Amino acid sequence: MSDEQTAAAEGQVVTSEKRGAVQVVTLNRPQYRNAQNSAMTYALDDAFAAAAADDEVKVIILAATGDHFSAGHDIGSPGRDVDAFFPRRASLWWDHPDKTGAEQRMARESEVYLGMCRRWRALPKPMIASVQGACVAGALMLAWSCDLIIAADDAFFADPVVRMGIPGVEYFAHPWVMGPRFAKEFLFLGEKVGAERALQLGMVNRVVPRADLETETVDVAERIAKMPRMGLALTKMAVNQCEDLMGLQSGMDSVFGLHHAAHSHNAESSEDHLAGHDARSMRDSQR
Ligand code: ZN
Repeated sequence: MSDEQTAAAEGQVVTSEKRGAVQVVTLNRPQYRNAQNSAMTYALDDAFAAAAADDEVKVIILAATGDHFSAGHDIGSPGRDVDAFFPRRASLWWDHPDKTGAEQRMARESEVYLGMCRRWRALPKPMIASVQGACVAGALMLAWSCDLIIAADDAFFADPVVRMGIPGVEYFAHPWVMGPRFAKEFLFLGEKVGAERALQLGMVNRVVPRADLETETVDVAERIAKMPRMGLALTKMAVNQCEDLMGLQSGMDSVFGLHHAAHSHNAESSEDHLAGHDARSMRDSQR
């Protein structure tokens, strides 16, 4: 099948529904554990941009259909579209599919990964990630870009990409969202961290039974939505600016260089920039 046929067969990879003052944006590739291809990334961006512009929307929820929030970036589904052209909007980088080497990888990841997540983090309305099941690697970037994370008791978090020789996913927020000490353990081991442990670390706001995840998330969103729009926007900016003064933005910039040194090292010394790994080999090696 062509990329277009695959996309058509999959239907809408992101859905968006307005419930009063709350916009619920939902990842919808459950057959691939919501692995993020570019089609999904740009559909998410469309949904977030519409919610940002809609005066009736005060709070945005990012949720996911199926048993898992997201298995990360799409490195193996039939709908993987790494070679497809999309109009860039998060960065002014040129497009990547017709480039080679580090130029291709940096152009792509600056736009589709780091650029998009930073753009979403700056959206001036509170965003709540509603997480069940797997929240692995590239999925962390989505959850961490949100302001609050509400986790089901079956949620787990992991960044196993050190197995590929890479020092964490592109949106390198690890030391800020879980502290430097645990960030090292999280990365060195690459193991699953359960919802309760994530709560202890301050990485998530609350843990609720799986059956209550949706109602709890909507309840929190509706309570936030009673606050004035401008007050919420300024409050979000206040905390984000302080987080940046604690080094988040500049740390992420410098680590992005290390991340690409790793991709280049892999490309020079192994089969490809992921050290020969794909979705299956990563899943099989996960504890
Ligand atoms: Zn990368």
